[in-house]
Amino acid sequence: MHVLVATDATQGARRSDFANCIEGELVWMLEVCPESRRNPDGQCPCGRSFRGLYSDEETTTALVTDLPNLTRSAYQRALYENHGDADSCPACRVRPFSKVVDELIRLGSLWPIGTVMERRVDLLQGRAPHRTSTKIE
Ligand SMILES: [Zn+2]
Repeated sequence: MHVLVATDATQGARRSDFANCIEGELVWMLEVCPESRRNPDGQCPCGRSFRGLYSDEETTTALVTDLPNLTRSAYQRALYENHGDADSCPACRVRPFSKVVDELIRLGSLWPIGTVMERRVDLLQGRAPHRTSTKIE
């Protein structure tokens, strides 16, 4: 399965870049707050970042990779087990994890393996080597 994982690749291409995740961990995306929607390169990074499933840290760069042994149910379980407490995350309450996983799988399938992705609020776009973009639903 093609998935998005944290990477340090292309870090520094934007001045607002940072990478605090564990290299190679699965990532997901939180809903963007109004502040970051106005200025994704501003103080709140949620509009430009991916969140690590395991570290709960954030990164502005994600890599499309293939995890052939990962199943959809294991993917959803990993998300639920690490973020199922929902209290700290408003996004979890409005978006069921099954929908989040479906969207992550859809997004992962859109680019070739090895593509480095960045997030611009509701857009996911390739930094290198593929520069196409798609809307996050
Ligand atoms: Zn925010």
